[in-house]
Amino acid sequence: MNISRRRFIQVSGLATVAGAVGAPYIAMGATKKVVVVGGGTGGATAAKYLRMADPSIEVTLIEANPHYYTCYMSNEVLSGERTLDSIRFGYTGLGKHGVKVVNDMVTGIDAKARTVTTKGGKTFNYDRCIVAPGIDFKWDTIEGYDANVAERIPHAWKAGTQTALLRRQLESMRDGGTVVICPPGNPFRCPPGPYERASQIAHYLKQHKPKSKIIILDPKPKFSKMGLFVQGWKDLYGYETDNSMIDWRGSAQGSNDNAVVKVDAGSMSVTTGFDDVVKADVLNVIPNQKAGKIAFDAGLTNDSGWCPIDLHTFESKIHPNIHVIGDASIAKGMPKSGYAANSEAKVCAASIAALLNGHEPGTPAYVNTCYSIVGKDYGISVAAVYKLAEDGSKITKVSGGLTPKDASAEARKREVGYAHSWFKNITSDIFG
Ligand SMILES: Cc1cc2nc3c(=O)[nH]c(=O)nc-3n(C[C@H](O)[C@H](O)[C@H](O)COP(=O)(O)OP(=O)(O)OC[C@H]3O[C@@H](n4cnc5c(N)ncnc54)[C@H](O)[C@@H]3O)c2cc1C
Repeated sequence: MNISRRRFIQVSGLATVAGAVGAPYIAMGATKKVVVVGGGTGGATAAKYLRMADPSIEVTLIEANPHYYTCYMSNEVLSGERTLDSIRFGYTGLGKHGVKVVNDMVTGIDAKARTVTTKGGKTFNYDRCIVAPGIDFKWDTIEGYDANVAERIPHAWKAGTQTALLRRQLESMRDGGTVVICPPGNPFRCPPGPYERASQIAHYLKQHKPKSKIIILDPKPKFSKMGLFVQGWKDLYGYETDNSMIDWRGSAQGSNDNAVVKVDAGSMSVTTGFDDVVKADVLNVIPNQKAGKIAFDAGLTNDSGWCPIDLHTFESKIHPNIHVIGDASIAKGMPKSGYAANSEAKVCAASIAALLNGHEPGTPAYVNTCYSIVGKDYGISVAAVYKLAEDGSKITKVSGGLTPKDASAEARKREVGYAHSWFKNITSDIFG
């Protein structure tokens, strides 16, 4: 183990779209049917926008849970800035748009027969299917951590009961305790998320348990919006001083120095690639990720564990007539975020409406903005508008940017306001 190296690491839109378009295979006069698997950010947006694009399409949305908890703003639940109820959404709004919402778990998709089957024993026919199951975890990558252990040591990377559990643990932690956060390796859902989480937890601890510390054990050498986060941590939490509340420990490129390789739930400790044993009072392990299980079961994934798609229409490169959107897809060039899933869903819905009506889908444009709330009146963001590369091989950024490093206090405060208004707008866009 190389101490000096370790020290170094420690401090140091909607569009109309085309693809392989042929004549629509819908018999004249027959109802066009689309089945959407997963009613999260991507799936619910696609279902609603399909109905808005063409009300003659019968859209069935199959979602495993009766309610959806957004991951976005769930870090504010951890800091006590908002309630769990404020991030909970139902499906009555989609019903008003004529989406048939079915509360059931999809267990199979037959790409040849074009059917979707559910745990509840139902079968649905489709002309086109949209698969938006979000993520699953690679449970086998950290010794001692699996779905059962996660019921005591939460990942809280799917919002709801996991968020509530982590919040309770933070509330009952003693002042002077240590919170250990273990972010995943790339690629993963919400690249700035673990660092916003550390910030929100610091915000809570600073007010209620100021002797406490947060250690971030990261398998990566750098992270999204790193300069802005570090600046915020310096401004608010004494980062890089002897009294820093946050201690970020990265790993050199290609190493797993500060990655967590083992969890001991009994002693509430983790072991890093450096063989360090780090003890926690509250432990938040966020494992490496892959596409949601149904994407694997339906044969939509490749060796990367994610779903290859035509970026123009989000149609699977493996199974025709099935489109994959959101975190599960390989939307090369875009992050795995809620706003990206929402944007991809609109592109996908517009292309399916065109395809089912025998039209050429048009040229897509995509957007993403990710706000992170670092502390009281302190917000940062990254925004981008994208287009499809000429050769269709990737989605390329055409404009965008980050909050300026020298932004005024007033501008940082406004970013918090923008973040909250973005949340209101996107959830009303999806579920309203
Ligand atoms: C802490 C945190 C903070 C975040 N903050 C932001 C943010 O500020 N901004 C932002 O843009 N993004 C943010 N994100 C990321 C965002 O939440 C995800 O990128 C987004 O939810 C992806 O949408 P999706 O539709 O792909 O998956 P999900 O929203 O997870 O939806 C998947 C849905 O499919 C359902 N499902 C899965 N399998 C089945 C099945 N077999 N049958 C039926 N239903 C099924 C699930 O129940 C779920 O409802 C954050 C994420 C985290 C963890």
